[in-house]
Amino acid sequence: MTNTADAIIIGGGIHGASLAFHLGERGMKTIVLEKNSLASGATGRSSGLIRINYDHEAESQLAWKSFSYFSNWEERVGGKCDFTRTGFIKITHPDYDNALRKNITMHQNLGVPTLLIDPSKVKDLAPFLNVDDFNLAIYEPESGYADPNAATSSLMDSAKKHGAQLIQGATVTDIQLASGKVSGVRSSVGDFSTPIVVNAAGAWAQPVAEMAGVKLPVDTWQHDVIFIRQPKSIPKNYPTIIDNINQIYFRPEEGGLTLLGLEDKNTTVESPHNYIEGTKPGFVQRAIEQICKRAPAMEAGSLHSEQDGYDGNSPDRRAILGQIGPEGFYAQCGFSGSGFKTAPAVGLCMAELIIDGEAKTVDISSFDPNRFLH
Ligand SMILES: Cc1cc2nc3c(=O)[nH]c(=O)nc-3n(C[C@H](O)[C@H](O)[C@H](O)COP(=O)(O)OP(=O)(O)OC[C@H]3O[C@@H](n4cnc5c(N)ncnc54)[C@H](O)[C@@H]3O)c2cc1C
Repeated sequence: MTNTADAIIIGGGIHGASLAFHLGERGMKTIVLEKNSLASGATGRSSGLIRINYDHEAESQLAWKSFSYFSNWEERVGGKCDFTRTGFIKITHPDYDNALRKNITMHQNLGVPTLLIDPSKVKDLAPFLNVDDFNLAIYEPESGYADPNAATSSLMDSAKKHGAQLIQGATVTDIQLASGKVSGVRSSVGDFSTPIVVNAAGAWAQPVAEMAGVKLPVDTWQHDVIFIRQPKSIPKNYPTIIDNINQIYFRPEEGGLTLLGLEDKNTTVESPHNYIEGTKPGFVQRAIEQICKRAPAMEAGSLHSEQDGYDGNSPDRRAILGQIGPEGFYAQCGFSGSGFKTAPAVGLCMAELIIDGEAKTVDISSFDPNRFLH
């Protein structure tokens, strides 16, 4: 084990692995320090939805650039991410129809394959859905989902081929400074020297930032999901759906299952140290009630399993990307429940920022950590 690196990345989730991969491609030797095991945080619990649609253009650009990785993983990264193209439908309340029209134009101008469809087209794509309460929906025929564990492992494996090291069971306990610059980290497995430290610690990003004397306003976002055994009347394959009216999302999962998440009542500011390994009381009942409003046939389904996770949450629910505090200290965190699908492009842009002083692939200045200081 060497104890000197061009950059130390704190956190072995999809973001730590993506950055190690991209810095490695540019010739930098990194060490990823992970207190548990690879993808043991939000990443390993992620629902894995891959869609391009966002309200903020820079996020759409990151998702669109990342899509070119997910859909071409073996060639671009190596290994597998198990991308499954299901198509993606987003249903919104009629009050947002005008905003939806503007939003679709923004995406089409970026070259994203996306269109507005009416309820009858939604019914063609997913006949088991109730389509009585909206006028328009967004449809992305190329989108779907991927396997977050496979994606993270293959990014890390490819990073290792470029000289990266992953050390699991290594908790970073302090960040060392010399003359106002990063000089190394202290960890449960020893000290490491480096001029660059990247905070990719997910829900633990705030205490990690404090180690560098930086107050980063990133708290936590807790999220529950369940897997339902589908009734036979629901096809095994159907489009991935975000339903903003009922505040749910769901998608097919291997083995005749449906993965279902609720977008309301995700609690923030909870300590991720208290993992409860299961959903919150009342969640299962509420989730089933909500999906049955959109897909009444689900009433004949049954609960297969449940899981929960914590992500880092920022005040504006946008990622925190860039340099902050002492020279050599960077943040790549605050993904606020939606950072899986953007991780390839975020890692690429962060590598450009670190090496070239500026991200060129996508302008990430709207994610600058210093925006919260004003
Ligand atoms: C249930 C759930 C469903 C989601 N669904 C989706 C989805 O469908 N699509 C989507 O795009 N996004 C989704 N997200 C969000 C997405 O999963 C996260 O944004 C993304 O995985 C964050 O990756 P990360 O690498 O930043 O963090 P993490 O995966 O949490 O990794 C951070 C790592 O840092 C380690 N760490 C922390 N402190 C230290 C320390 N001091 N020393 C060493 N290591 C440390 C942790 O152990 C952890 O492994 C979901 C999140 C959850 C919780």
